[in-house]
Amino acid sequence: MASTVDRVHARAPGKINVYFRVGGLADDGYHPVASVYQAVSLYEDVWATPADGFTLSVTGSVELGAVPRDDTNLALRAARLLAREIGIEDGVHLQIHKTVPVAGGMGGGSADAAAALVACDALWAAGLSHAELMALAAQLGADVPFALMGGTAVGTGHGDQLNPALAQGRFDWVLAISDEGLSTPAVYAELDEYRLAAGPRAEPAVAHPGVRPAVLQALRQGDARRLASASHNDLDPAALRLRPPLDDIINLGLDEGALTAFVSGSGPTIAMLAEDERAAIGLQISLSTQGHKALHVHGPVPGARVVAS
Ligand code: ATP
Repeated sequence: MASTVDRVHARAPGKINVYFRVGGLADDGYHPVASVYQAVSLYEDVWATPADGFTLSVTGSVELGAVPRDDTNLALRAARLLAREIGIEDGVHLQIHKTVPVAGGMGGGSADAAAALVACDALWAAGLSHAELMALAAQLGADVPFALMGGTAVGTGHGDQLNPALAQGRFDWVLAISDEGLSTPAVYAELDEYRLAAGPRAEPAVAHPGVRPAVLQALRQGDARRLASASHNDLDPAALRLRPPLDDIINLGLDEGALTAFVSGSGPTIAMLAEDERAAIGLQISLSTQGHKALHVHGPVPGARVVAS
């Protein structure tokens, strides 16, 4: 199949886990989770152009040292998977521009994979349905289907069994970004260790975690204050034990007016919810003037899509 266009630009959002419950380690080696994802206005851009093989270049506004440039890069894996699925022998060059912090708990690599799927689908005129792309996304990683879907959604199982959640209006977030990422497996291992060490004092890890109804109500009502009091992340203590200075950033955010502040996913990005846009701008300025890398974003935003050139 020959390409019908010579360059496709796609964009996919990073995510915040507004709510994240992690069950006990199951026999399959995974933790069952219950997650409420929200896609936010911090984006990964991918340009796909025809090439002989599968190649990659990476630019961005974040620390890029930890981004794999070889075949383990999730965007390249996505392109190869799609090519295999539709049975073509064409290659592709993917140019990625990252603004989502690497290993930041915001699903940046997953967003690259979702954008690559959408870009290559258009480049190769494959015409896969949303459901077909979602099935490929699920093969690439637990967070990839959500990057494709966007908006606000509940994820169960490994986080990849998604159901859209109703959310009204917009939520304004300030993200405190760290240059050095945290390894997701290391954070989960720390959580297991912590639960084991705490013994009967630890909150029991459930086999089938669920989402607190108050979270979904707050989203439906577009009520930032209610969302702040209902939000929760089971990985928070584990990430803070591995990176104690994050606690100071959380406290600083709360002192400066954040309704709540918590680790996003496995961290180290700290997500702070603001009352409204104005409050978020004030909070972002306060954190920046005190030497922190802080960004103001909003959610929910749509999932991966082609950007008209
Ligand atoms: P997770 O999805 O595990 O929670 P995260 O959101 O914390 O991850 P990512 O930026 O997605 O962080 O990257 C996690 C790891 O995946 C990186 O440390 C890197 O080794 C690997 N990786 C593979 N492809 C990519 C990519 N396109 N961009 C960034 N990292 C990638």
